[in-house]
Amino acid sequence: MKITDLLNEDRITLSFEVFPPKKAEKFEAVKNAAEAIADLHPSFMSVTYGAGGSTAGFTAELAADLKKETGVTVLPHLTCVGSSREHADRMIDQYVREEIENIMVLRGDMPNGGEIETDFTHASDLIAYIKSRSDVCIGGACYPEGHPESYNKNDDLKGLKAKVDAGCDFLTTQMFFDNNIFYNFLYRAGRAGINVPILAGIMPITNAKQLDRSVALSGTNVPERFRAIVDTFKDNPSAMKQAGIVYASEQIIDLIANGVKNIHVYSMNKSDVAAGIMNNLSEILK
Ligand code: FAD
Repeated sequence: MKITDLLNEDRITLSFEVFPPKKAEKFEAVKNAAEAIADLHPSFMSVTYGAGGSTAGFTAELAADLKKETGVTVLPHLTCVGSSREHADRMIDQYVREEIENIMVLRGDMPNGGEIETDFTHASDLIAYIKSRSDVCIGGACYPEGHPESYNKNDDLKGLKAKVDAGCDFLTTQMFFDNNIFYNFLYRAGRAGINVPILAGIMPITNAKQLDRSVALSGTNVPERFRAIVDTFKDNPSAMKQAGIVYASEQIIDLIANGVKNIHVYSMNKSDVAAGIMNNLSEILK
């Protein structure tokens, strides 16, 4: 099923993200965790693409297995970094053969220190290329707090508009911990003529190191309220996990209460965390 068709339905969508392993010996464990998440009946599941194309084969294999064995709608990611035209052709052909109708297209980040082959400078270049070859539904990334390389937020919105004009069908945001930042972004994106659905990206933080890593990568603002929660519970792993699940659930409830109907959860292969969120929302999602 195309994700745009799901997003057009008059109901809330909640989707989860998993990441494939870098090594074959870990594939089975990741697949089991991903299948446990699929058993929660999310609207769809995305499968990330390792930096520099390091997980290309496993991304495709995990997405295909999930679709075949659980029936869940899948969204494999593909990055410009590590993609020649020939590589992109191979991936597109494989997804068309497997009747996978959605691809999340990113520019990707350079792996540490490496010169990397790519025929596509921006996500918009790869999106236009895929759209010229197939009618697959395409997702792209957006940044409520601005992409770290953008000069300012207005410039970032110009890049985003180019991405949508290239054929991007929907957008998913970088994680944010303050919903007001997302509401402000929705307003600015609308004024910039960006009219595709925008999924709110929510990252449940279940340990302090994960928060530090995520913030270092994305520059995401951490509200004092959330910082206090992490500072209080960081040395008690089960309390921190519970608090992280509740904080993410509260963010989602507030989003839904404010009319946001499409939410994507960075569940990071943690089926217990995904289940905790689903459980907290069980009546709300009915
Ligand atoms: P782009 O859209 O190319 O944007 C990069 C910069 O260029 C921005 O500053 C933008 O404003 C500017 N820009 C964009 N288009 C144009 C244009 N046409 N002309 C001029 N400037 C332009 N990384 C991975 O390696 N694998 C993944 O699976 C992955 N999944 C992700 C999922 C989500 C939801 C998000 C938010 C990020 C993900 N990333 C992933 C990280 C992403 O690759 C990085 O954030 C990367 O630095 C930017 O990717 P992009 O697709 O937004 O790039």
